[in-house]
Amino acid sequence: MATFQGALEANPGWKLGDPVEDLDFPPPLTAFYSEYPERLEWDYKTFTETIPNNQKDAAIYGPYYTLANAYSYGFQYHGANLPGQQAPPEESDFTIRGNPIPPAVPFKSAALASEFVKEIAHRFGATLVGITRAYEDFFYADSWRGCPPEYDHSNLPEHWKYAVVIGVPMEWDTVLGSPQTSTSYEAYDRVSTAAVRLEGAIKTLGYAARASSPMTNYDLIVPPFSIEAGLGEVCRAGYMIAPETGSNLRTAVVITNLELEIDKPIKFGVEEFCNKCKICAEQCPSGAISFADSPAEQEWGTGSVLRGWEHWYINNGACYNFWRESMGPMGCRLCVAVCPYSRKDNWVHDIAKFADPRDPTGVFASGLLWMQKNFFDYPDAVEYHRPDLGGHFAGFRTEPTFLHAERYLDIDIVSPHEN
Ligand code: SF4
Ligand code: SF4
Repeated sequence: MATFQGALEANPGWKLGDPVEDLDFPPPLTAFYSEYPERLEWDYKTFTETIPNNQKDAAIYGPYYTLANAYSYGFQYHGANLPGQQAPPEESDFTIRGNPIPPAVPFKSAALASEFVKEIAHRFGATLVGITRAYEDFFYADSWRGCPPEYDHSNLPEHWKYAVVIGVPMEWDTVLGSPQTSTSYEAYDRVSTAAVRLEGAIKTLGYAARASSPMTNYDLIVPPFSIEAGLGEVCRAGYMIAPETGSNLRTAVVITNLELEIDKPIKFGVEEFCNKCKICAEQCPSGAISFADSPAEQEWGTGSVLRGWEHWYINNGACYNFWRESMGPMGCRLCVAVCPYSRKDNWVHDIAKFADPRDPTGVFASGLLWMQKNFFDYPDAVEYHRPDLGGHFAGFRTEPTFLHAERYLDIDIVSPHEN
């Protein structure tokens, strides 16, 4: 997006329909937009329509979101100071603060090494932990952090052997305020902090380690690692649903050469449930989530099979433009908030989580869905939009009291909900 913005600023007369080559993008980006012209349209819209509209709305409604933005920024401020990777893996993975890691301390077995790593990952702040192999298919093709262009996923560094995947949920009460007042940075910061701690601990024992996390950036795509590590199953919205936290999970990966025992993928009925449910597709304000019954039938994206793995796509051009249209902290997260799997632990939800995967008839799931759709009131998708589009920046639920700017601040506030 930054490259697109720079190109438009350098070529202010460029209009949609003009040759994309005139924007002077790096060759891979020109090739991408030539192959997927709908992405060019979405990204052009972001800068020519969505952001200007957002600035207009912020001038009126911005103060209403003052506390939500401040709360989010606290996490961003801390997370931005976490150490990231500045050098190729052969250097950065084997050094601590510029010094070589010590000689490796041998573990009695891979199983005990895994047990220890999981134990400390939890103590460092991870809610869920799983271990899998460092599959080359799940690394970015190129552009790894601190690496020259010749590094690419078909030739992984030899010491990238295992992937420790950790996850942390966003807070349950704030996430229900999505899309406007929730913040991904709550869990981005926490999971990144846990990943950096884990990287440091593994290195101190004399093994290579490299954290990929929301605040330190990534060399890889996390959801397929999470699924292979047995944390959960892929869902219609393209990310992973865990039995314990639903889709409310932000993840990070620590790659290491410490010999570890790996976990197995799990299955607990998400695919079947998603095909009955489709609530996220109904609620998504940008229409970015498919109603199709299988990834092969979805309407957009670069194909349902990538490097041999089938997957769901969201229409990320539509999704991103909705983020930039929204008020409060960047992002939306509504698909996380509305998902029946993303429910706080209480005895009702615990019974549902226990019984549904054990019911081969699917009757229990149908009953749960009927209750979800009929007992709970929530906004129509249009209400999440800006007032000019017929909405009022609705949240799935009211934001928690501590984010009510009107309660705490002595400033002029215009509520979008009263217009
Ligand atoms: S809201 Fe429903 S369809 Fe969407 S991911 Fe959750 S369970 Fe699947
Ligand atoms: S984040 Fe929001 S706009 Fe994007 S897919 Fe989810 S619900 Fe739709």
